[in-house]
Amino acid sequence: MRIGVLALQGAVREHLAVINHLEKEGSIVKKAADLDRIDGLILPGGESTAISWLMDEELEHRLGLLAREGLPVFGTCAGMILLADQVEGGNGRQLSAIDITVRRNAFGRQIESFETKLAITGIGSDVPVVFIRAPYITRVGDGVQILARYMPNGKATSSSLGFPVMAKEKNVLVSSFHPELTDDLRIHRYFLAMVEAAN
Ligand code: GLN
Repeated sequence: MRIGVLALQGAVREHLAVINHLEKEGSIVKKAADLDRIDGLILPGGESTAISWLMDEELEHRLGLLAREGLPVFGTCAGMILLADQVEGGNGRQLSAIDITVRRNAFGRQIESFETKLAITGIGSDVPVVFIRAPYITRVGDGVQILARYMPNGKATSSSLGFPVMAKEKNVLVSSFHPELTDDLRIHRYFLAMVEAAN
């Protein structure tokens, strides 16, 4: 099983390190041909506009197609913005692989970056996560399952109120936060299980 990491900008090395830690093969994706031999793909956090500008047309086209055809993909932070159908405050291009609208830099200046623990449906409770100038989800389509919510200054659980910060639609998983910056591997394990199930 080989997991690609989109490597145009952002937290690429950190995801590759987690993949290695979980004893799977990581593979860098910079151009369309790199998509040929992967079983799943992670789109890392970074700067979504920069990533979208660095993506050439062929890569963007093939990636969008593969994601819509069922390749398991996991977008974290900027990666979530790229995979979304619509973006508030965005000026890059969209892959429209998941039927959600996201708002960029949604948590505002004071709490641009913070760490917290979340309850995540299907994964567990007290999962440590890092938000860095993070987006949140403002609209989900009918087929989208919200896996976690976060309420600033409040207690967040997957069943209570709060901004949706993790979601899944079929083969597409997205999170507002960076799971690769903590030692907790449960979120990557969850994605690898999605990849295994698809193959
Ligand atoms: N604010 C960034 C953007 O809009 C996302 C930040 C991140 O990926 N940590 O692309």
